[in-house]
Amino acid sequence: MRRIAILGSTGSIGESALDVVRASGGRLAVVALAAGSNWRTLAAQARELRPLLAVVADPGGEQPLRRELAGTGIEVAAGLEGLRRAAAHPEAAIVLSAIVGAAGILPTWEAARAGKTVALANKESLVAAGAAITAAASASGGLILPVDSEHSAIHQLLRDRDPREVRGIVLTASGGPFFRREIDLDAVTPEEALRHPSWSMGAKVTIDSATLMNKGLEVIEAHWLFGLPLERIGVVVHPQSIVHGAVELTDGALLAHLSPPDMRIPIAAALHHPERVELPWQRLDLAALGRLEFFPPDHERFPALRLACEALARGGTAPAVLNAANEVAVQAFLERRLAFSAIPALVAAALARVPAGPAVPGIEEVLAADGAARAAAREALPEFDPPRRS
Ligand code: NDP
Repeated sequence: MRRIAILGSTGSIGESALDVVRASGGRLAVVALAAGSNWRTLAAQARELRPLLAVVADPGGEQPLRRELAGTGIEVAAGLEGLRRAAAHPEAAIVLSAIVGAAGILPTWEAARAGKTVALANKESLVAAGAAITAAASASGGLILPVDSEHSAIHQLLRDRDPREVRGIVLTASGGPFFRREIDLDAVTPEEALRHPSWSMGAKVTIDSATLMNKGLEVIEAHWLFGLPLERIGVVVHPQSIVHGAVELTDGALLAHLSPPDMRIPIAAALHHPERVELPWQRLDLAALGRLEFFPPDHERFPALRLACEALARGGTAPAVLNAANEVAVQAFLERRLAFSAIPALVAAALARVPAGPAVPGIEEVLAADGAARAAAREALPEFDPPRRS
């Protein structure tokens, strides 16, 4: 039996992971669950799955969670210290890192330091702290397995392959809800941007998909996961979200990975790694799909992808700055204080204001850059347009 800690259990990835646990026929067991503030859902999950530890990051959730779990024998903890305990739980072999945003950086680093197998959904932690987290995992003998569907696809395609045969990799992007629509990006509403055509996900990653920042973050994530330079990581828009990634070999062959757009498949691949298990969900019917389409990314309308690639090329803490400023921008857009089209512009403004820091930043330097970027983005926010009413 594999014992798992799930950080971010109440989110979209967390709930899908619990489905994978339920479908595992007892091969997977949960030893720790952690959430942000939603103690009600967390308590219900804990009563069902009986972990040893339940953690709510928001200290205000600690007492209600304790009351809900009284008499169950489940230990309750709160705050960053609680998250760290869940991430390094001695009974956990695998830690699913599925907190959203930079709040996942420290717990992911903690799990890597503790020698865990980290099933990584929280791409932001590798974007911001790729050097520190990969170094921590190699020092402790830990392993980082991607959960992001594109990176899971590439990881599966690269497994046991001689790196000398690999010319490069291709990540696919759905293009989000606006890729092929003639729509005024200055007037887009949060409701429109949250309506993703192929994936059902949390709000932040859904907005990142619509701006294509998600793909930019994923290029940086791929750089750290697969040790590839920027010029060997390609991106292609594929609206059907059936092909998740491809590996180009030196002889011209392109190996692609296809599956239904269901995150439970890459989550199961990581949690059961290296085994493949029978899953009860939807399967692909190629004839029913009919056709698959591919387009180059539109860098004019969606400049965030290029911005992310430039941050990776700049190095140091620039990706941490990009990530933090993007979180501020997405939040401002969701609160209708920033136009959709101004999200990348605000991120660019923060990148211009915050120095790139040391070439190989440690975790403290990453967290300092994150703070500086948030301050710079908030300061620059009034200079940018609010959404235009259509
Ligand atoms: P959700 O918004 O659905 O869930 C986020 C989770 O993080 C919730 O459990 C939330 O708890 C928790 N959380 C939020 N803030 C904190 C905090 N400060 N401390 C501790 N926990 C916190 O996000 P998703 O599940 O969509 O995404 C999670 C991660 O996975 C992201 O990094 C995303 O980019 C990545 N990812 C997601 C995919 C998807 O299909 N959803 C696909 C590929 C990657 P609470 O409910 O209490 O707020």
